[in-house]
Amino acid sequence: MQNSTKTVAVIGGGPVGLAAAAHVLERGMRPVVLESGDQVGDTVLEWSHVRMFSPWVYNVDKAAGQLLAAQGWNAPDPNQYPTGGELFERYLAPLATRTVLKEHIRTKARVVSVARAGFDKMKTIGRDQAPFEIRYRNGRGPETLRADAVIDASGTWRSPNPAGVNGTEAIGEAENAGRIAYGMPDVLGADLNRYARRTVAVLGAGHSAVGTILDLAKLRDVEPSTHIIWILRGDNPEKSFGGGANDKLAARGELGRLFAQVVASGEVRVEAGFRLTHITAKGEKLRLGAGSSCCGRHIEVDELIVATGFRPDLSFLRELRTSLDPALECPPILAPLIDPNLHSCGTVRPHGARELAQPEHGFYFAGMKSYGRAPTFLMMTGYEQVRSIVANIAGDREAAERVELVLPETGVCSRPVTEGAANSAACCGGPAPAEIDTCCRQDADGESDGAKGCGCS
Ligand SMILES: Cc1cc2nc3c(=O)[nH]c(=O)nc-3n(C[C@H](O)[C@H](O)[C@H](O)COP(=O)(O)OP(=O)(O)OC[C@H]3O[C@@H](n4cnc5c(N)ncnc54)[C@H](O)[C@@H]3O)c2cc1C
Repeated sequence: MQNSTKTVAVIGGGPVGLAAAAHVLERGMRPVVLESGDQVGDTVLEWSHVRMFSPWVYNVDKAAGQLLAAQGWNAPDPNQYPTGGELFERYLAPLATRTVLKEHIRTKARVVSVARAGFDKMKTIGRDQAPFEIRYRNGRGPETLRADAVIDASGTWRSPNPAGVNGTEAIGEAENAGRIAYGMPDVLGADLNRYARRTVAVLGAGHSAVGTILDLAKLRDVEPSTHIIWILRGDNPEKSFGGGANDKLAARGELGRLFAQVVASGEVRVEAGFRLTHITAKGEKLRLGAGSSCCGRHIEVDELIVATGFRPDLSFLRELRTSLDPALECPPILAPLIDPNLHSCGTVRPHGARELAQPEHGFYFAGMKSYGRAPTFLMMTGYEQVRSIVANIAGDREAAERVELVLPETGVCSRPVTEGAANSAACCGGPAPAEIDTCCRQDADGESDGAKGCGCS
């Protein structure tokens, strides 16, 4: 089939979905973006109050930037750090409304199933030649789109992990949903009245938990009767203090440093090693229990914010032949590159179409969703992914293989110290000390360059 006649369906109009569409256009093919929200960037708008830790230079896709430049776009200062709201206002919205992309975007279009036309999952012969049939709802009844390839860039924001320590809902979590929020509520803005002067617990140890606690600390400055409790499942709070000066994204390192200060000040009650299993209404309060609803270790709060990460929604892909890592729910080849159980440290080896391909020929995961449950996704990773994927769909194998992605290191080894490792006082499980020269690189690579090694391997 000629490229110009190929239709590529892109599920999700977030930063990565729109970048995918821009690359599809650049390659002379026809993109159709299906976005469930009222506008593109619908999930970014839900964290519009959050300042990003990557500056503009990392947040604009090349092909998308070119479409905007052709319209006389006033590009933002590459060194400034936008909020989610500014990312929407200054980049996503103009991209979707003022460039040729606008002809290719369908909003209020929620994808509910993807299949091969005329083939259920079992049927093999002729399967690869059949077009994809994407069913979506737009409020006017079910609609169908046929496409030659599908890029699923629908993110994970709408499927947050639950509060329960086992990865399942805590007992009582659904019943008490009215006093539980997920992700990063706007505690200094739209949600201020919900949290001011209350006892608020934040569950989680990643960037969302850290950002929310820092905002709650600011709220406490003006509303001193606000109490903050930080609940983490692990035993070591220091793991959340980040790589500090070793983080190649300075704003991300600074976030961890500020957080360490706030925790040290005693403003935040720290409940480490708390394995939440039960949530019970007790009068005006929520009782959070580790192990039981009645007795044992527990905490009483007014509000709970769950920031335990996200997982991909795979329900609408049931009729496709997908293959995912059993732990991370991401494409299997990608898993060892991003698995926080391994020594990945946010440094990801080059990856693109080959790593992201699925047994279902012509179907790809991209963006936040491609990382499954792993937490370290950066937009620039997604832009490189879709450049490679689209080159592959266009039949340009050389460009698809030529993936060059060097991500800024976090400066933190997330992996615990290996017993008997040479350098066990090193950075493993926490921020890297200044004298450690290969922390967060593949140890073998570092050592072959003559460095000491960080002791984690
Ligand atoms: C609070 C926060 C801060 C972050 N800060 C940074 C940062 O500083 N730098 C950085 O590089 N990355 C950052 N990230 C990580 C990541 O880059 C962003 O989450 C980014 O928005 C991911 O882009 P995406 O297009 O993959 O997914 P999303 O932005 O989540 O877009 C997915 C889109 O798909 C739509 N959708 C979902 N389901 C369907 C469906 N069934 N049918 C149709 N449409 C659907 C959604 O409405 C959404 O618009 C941050 C993430 C969060 C949550």
